[in-house]
Amino acid sequence: MDRKVRVRFAPSPTGPLHIGGVRTALYNYLFARQHGGDMILRIEDTDSQRFVPGAEEYINESLAWLGIKIDEGVKEGGNYGPYKQSERRDIYRENVKTLLDNGKAYYAFDTPEELDAKRQSTPNFQYDASTRMSMRNSLSLPAEEVKRLIDAGEKYVVRFLIEPGRDIEVNDLIRGKVTINSSVLDDKVLYKSADDLPTYHLANIVDDHLMEVSHVIRGEEWLPSAPLHVLLYEAFGWKDTMPEFVHLPLLLKPDGKGKLSKRDGDRLGFPVFPLEWHDPKSGDISSGYRESGYLPQAVVNFLALLGWNPGDDTEIMSMEELINKFSLDHCSKSGAKFDFEKGKWFNHKYLQELPDASLAQMFKPILEQNGITGYSDEYITRAVAMVKGRINFVKDLWDQARFFFVQPESYDEKAVKKRWNEDTPRIMNELIDVLNGIEDFSCASAEPIVLGWITDKGYHMGNVMNAFRLTVVGECKGPHMFDITELMGKEETVRRIKLGIERI
Ligand code: GLU
Repeated sequence: MDRKVRVRFAPSPTGPLHIGGVRTALYNYLFARQHGGDMILRIEDTDSQRFVPGAEEYINESLAWLGIKIDEGVKEGGNYGPYKQSERRDIYRENVKTLLDNGKAYYAFDTPEELDAKRQSTPNFQYDASTRMSMRNSLSLPAEEVKRLIDAGEKYVVRFLIEPGRDIEVNDLIRGKVTINSSVLDDKVLYKSADDLPTYHLANIVDDHLMEVSHVIRGEEWLPSAPLHVLLYEAFGWKDTMPEFVHLPLLLKPDGKGKLSKRDGDRLGFPVFPLEWHDPKSGDISSGYRESGYLPQAVVNFLALLGWNPGDDTEIMSMEELINKFSLDHCSKSGAKFDFEKGKWFNHKYLQELPDASLAQMFKPILEQNGITGYSDEYITRAVAMVKGRINFVKDLWDQARFFFVQPESYDEKAVKKRWNEDTPRIMNELIDVLNGIEDFSCASAEPIVLGWITDKGYHMGNVMNAFRLTVVGECKGPHMFDITELMGKEETVRRIKLGIERI
């Protein structure tokens, strides 16, 4: 196939972009980049009832944060615009007319009340070949009556005329061939005169055709619409340039039981949106990956592996590597469990890759929030370097490194019980003398001197070192003791030991 690869991400601005939508955007992007193709962002805003202010900006900001670059779109421009469906009414009107003129679609005048009544009286009512002649439409009514209704400004919809009893084949690049019989489909509404707008199905097909989309990569929830879309391409005479279909596997709840929902996030405490979202109507705030302390690279890497694998067990991959390795052959048909813990693990890994100085800069605002100022960048950087192996998020640095900036407020009780006895204050006073006598307080110099003193005196190594640690850190955890004291310096170390002797 020598067609230029052109893909589109086509969200509807009906709320914040869900993390599943982000994955769809990412796979489109990886596929486009790998094939030297184009990535289109099309805003599908034909459902005016469900329009949410701010949603479009949210989509743009989310994609930008994640490094998913758009080649053509509302902001970017391009040769196939407008890229917002509400600005393409003329195009849709013209295409609806083509279908009407060719007898592939028809006017229907049934009011919502009439349709309701029909649904009440006819079990499993479906507007299709078996029922359409009993409804009020341009197939059942005389031509003059149809003209009269339209001229009188009567509201109507245009429905797609579906021929029953035909097998429709959808070829999906992940799922293979899916066949469905046209009898199960209803005569879908394609256009509504009330707001002069097409429905999703018509707008989507017309735009994919006009924008020369080569591959439609979207979530599995759109698979049931695909047969209808195939019929629409046929009705327009566009079957030869119909895009390839790719329906991505669902994102499942962490336990694999059912589709991932916003409620799962609330229940289990993880974000299901890329960025924090402030609902303009209810004022509710939903948490986002960005505000929760995730690095965009970690989110991208995590999402890439939800439904695709590189064919081996490589896990850490940059955007560039993902672009090189991505392939539809390694996308799975079955749903992908949203393993949230794995998301944290990715963030941990990516944080380790950052230079210590960058992490320190990210940590500074947190220090300031806690009222800590006046430390040099070098001090903060060295403290961060010692504890970063234990963090999943930048905010964890506070727990892990606070003792570098504030003296212990209390001492871990269990450790005190285990390591502190009547003799300890005397030994700690001796330790102060030993430390005071050390010229070069670096780890390399101080460590052998202190350990030598403990051995010479025949003291219990574990007890003495843990008591020492207790006074400096407040608990028996943390980085290597002499790395800590090297950074804190002699004066602060000795001060803390004295304080510990007084207070423990
Ligand atoms: N507007 C649809 C959505 O919100 C697009 C589906 C498609 O990609 O065809 O997901």
